[in-house]
Amino acid sequence: MLMGHYSVALAASGTDRRLPLWVSFLAVQIVDVFWAIFLLTHVERISLSPGLPSNSLVLDHLPYTHSLVGTLAFAFLAAGSYRLVTTTGRRPAGVVGLAVVSHWILDLIVHRRDLTLFGAVGGYGYGLWDVPIAASGLEMGLVALGAWYFARRTNMAPVPIVALASVMVGGTIWFYFGPRLRSVTTTAVAALATYAVMTTAAWAAERRWGTSTGPGGT
Ligand SMILES: [Zn+2]
Repeated sequence: MLMGHYSVALAASGTDRRLPLWVSFLAVQIVDVFWAIFLLTHVERISLSPGLPSNSLVLDHLPYTHSLVGTLAFAFLAAGSYRLVTTTGRRPAGVVGLAVVSHWILDLIVHRRDLTLFGAVGGYGYGLWDVPIAASGLEMGLVALGAWYFARRTNMAPVPIVALASVMVGGTIWFYFGPRLRSVTTTAVAALATYAVMTTAAWAAERRWGTSTGPGGT
């Protein structure tokens, strides 16, 4: 899953308005950020099979970033780091941890039986990627739901929220139906660039168009 993860980020920052949107955007993808770094440094391994539906990814060996135990470790580290560097208390840090864990749970729906619990014993994933129209529809639906919830919970003007959601919908269409990436290195670099652009866009939107609590905010 790619853009659908950001629905959780929108829900997280919509629920706890002390949590900046860019932090939530980074949290929901932090395991994929390290996935891309670990691919470039050969700590983890994938291969590409262009005949597969939705995308060419064959996730051969991802014991750290896409095991449940690994994800939980990333969640504790992220929540602990956030708690250390901010003064906003325990709850936003807890939300950061949950946002990190959400990545594995949403990946479970779309991945092709390549997720593991402990890094070795594998075979989890419901394989929605095998039906691209359903998987892309799910991601776009999640994005719409997240954007709607965030709009309800904050004072941010509708235009930047719709703009952010539109970028995510465009990114989803590109990911599922656009040209396939031809090498593992290109895949990792494109992933890192996508996460950097989306996190920066969230930061810019919130900075420019308001962070104040809406009528339903806490
Ligand atoms: Zn992932």
